[in-house]
Amino acid sequence: MSPSSTRIGVLALQGSFSEHMKSLTQLGVDAVEVRLPDQLATLDGLVIPGGESTTILKLIDEYGLREPLRRAITLGLPVLGTCAGVICLATHVTSHSMDLLNLLHISVARNGFGRQVDSFEEDLSISALPGPVYRGVFIRAPVIESSNDGVEVLARLANGTIVACRQNNILATCFHPEFVEDLRVHAYFLDMVTQYVCTRDAHD
Ligand code: GLN
Repeated sequence: MSPSSTRIGVLALQGSFSEHMKSLTQLGVDAVEVRLPDQLATLDGLVIPGGESTTILKLIDEYGLREPLRRAITLGLPVLGTCAGVICLATHVTSHSMDLLNLLHISVARNGFGRQVDSFEEDLSISALPGPVYRGVFIRAPVIESSNDGVEVLARLANGTIVACRQNNILATCFHPEFVEDLRVHAYFLDMVTQYVCTRDAHD
């Protein structure tokens, strides 16, 4: 499958969707803004961007996307959630009362790095990415406080805090790969998409 025939949707309700569109376009895939449930069936992968998780979840409900999204991701559609996107995908949030998508078996605390240090950068070793360290940009980021079996931890801060993980077709980063020039997180996600598409099309 050539990259240009790969169609990745970016949930474009609020937040950093245009930055994700740019990163994906640089990698040569067909990136499309997604707002309507009917669009999901046309996708090979989906990104839920950073932003405000309360706003994104509210708009997911207003646009009638909650069950279609849950169904598509449960059936295997690869999804990359970044920052607020991680919160949306999670099964538990300890800091607030929220109706999450309830798919990724982690427990998160919103704004878990506190007010004083609510934005920072740190070089990360991400186990799935070969090569040099990756610059993690954290903006009022959530903390992944715990994860269940079946969730692979991909990166931690120097202090041990989990900041990236994968559960089957769900990739989650508390930092913002859409705000750095380094495209390796998006490229890793596209590898997940390629594997999914090969398996899906073999069953057609
Ligand atoms: N603090 C935001 C939230 O809780 C996430 C911030 C971000 O996506 N940069 O939803």
